Amino acid sequence: MKRIYLSPPHMGGDEPGLVQETFESNWIAPLGPQVDAFEHEFAEAVEVPHAAALSSGTGALHLALLMEGVGRRDVVVCPALTFSATANAITYVGAEPIFIDSDLETWNLDPNLLREELVQRAEDGNQAAAVIAVDLYGQCADYAKIVEICDEFDVPLIEDAAEALGASCNGQPAGSFGRCAIFSFNGNKIITTSGGGMLVSHDEALVSKARFLATQARDPAPHYQHSEIGYNYRMSNVLAAIGRGQLRVLDERVRARRANFAHYHRELAGLSGLEFMPEASHGRCTRWLTCLTIDPADFGATREDVRLALESENIEARPVWKPMHLQPVFAECRVRGGEIARALFENGLCLPSGSSLTREDRDRVISVVKRVGSR
Ligand SMILES: *Cc1c(COP(=O)(O)O)cnc(C)c1O
Repeated sequence: MKRIYLSPPHMGGDEPGLVQETFESNWIAPLGPQVDAFEHEFAEAVEVPHAAALSSGTGALHLALLMEGVGRRDVVVCPALTFSATANAITYVGAEPIFIDSDLETWNLDPNLLREELVQRAEDGNQAAAVIAVDLYGQCADYAKIVEICDEFDVPLIEDAAEALGASCNGQPAGSFGRCAIFSFNGNKIITTSGGGMLVSHDEALVSKARFLATQARDPAPHYQHSEIGYNYRMSNVLAAIGRGQLRVLDERVRARRANFAHYHRELAGLSGLEFMPEASHGRCTRWLTCLTIDPADFGATREDVRLALESENIEARPVWKPMHLQPVFAECRVRGGEIARALFENGLCLPSGSSLTREDRDRVISVVKRVGSR
């Protein structure tokens, strides 16, 4: 039986022609007309005026923190429930991550706990240097509240929208909140360039400075002069061509992912002990991944039982992200709350969610889940 992947790449059709242009023009380089066009088109899509195409979302996060002046002995607040890249980037600048639990409405950074943390830090005279909010699994965090809290304490907000291209919150696109935002075009994301990232901001100076650092911080001189430490983080012109083709089909990709969710929900929501990740009333989730939690007492099987049953049918499913405060590498870091993130991890499963998934693929997944539940 053919393998069903969690979230495989899905080309739109225009990509080979656009890549061919890079060969014809000989711009096989980390700059060129495809990079410029991709940045413009992407900025338009997320309704943020300035964008820098980079080699990864992780690199974009690193630059975002540098742009906010975060450094040694600083602390940066981020959610416990995220992919490790969010927290890793904090350590790249020598700062320390502080983890905050999720709320159950969005599975994202709990605004009440964020506020408690910033209040306490203000009292201690040791305010966080930045907050990174994450838009998990295609759903925006609660930005009406988070932006207000960050403004109140004058802490810069960075939006990790790596998983949420195409989502919105109160009618505004993911990536338009905060001082700057980052996206990822890794192979499993909603659109992909095989690997890549984007930094976007309303602040033109921030983006041009990030672009400068991403290009080895070369001063404007013919002789390779450097006054700052630079990085090699620019996106290849070849990959930007792929990104342009992918961006053209983004709306279709969001529709397909939401249709996956609707089908799973229709067939499985009635089973006792299964609960799908809610869609918060403030926004529109792309359902990048369809996620659910399994209460073993009610369902009669654990998350792992279901995952292994799917695997034995050659279907890839994954547990929800293991929270950062439960990771060996961050075991010493401070966490506020953490039990909700822990429970989402222990009981949470991501079902195959690719935009190229067929109805038959989903039916295969659905029948395994139903079978395990009725054992
Ligand atoms: C994928 C991802 C990243 C990292 O992006 P890369 O392009 O793989 O470096 C960062 N944060 C989150 C939440 C992600 O899911």
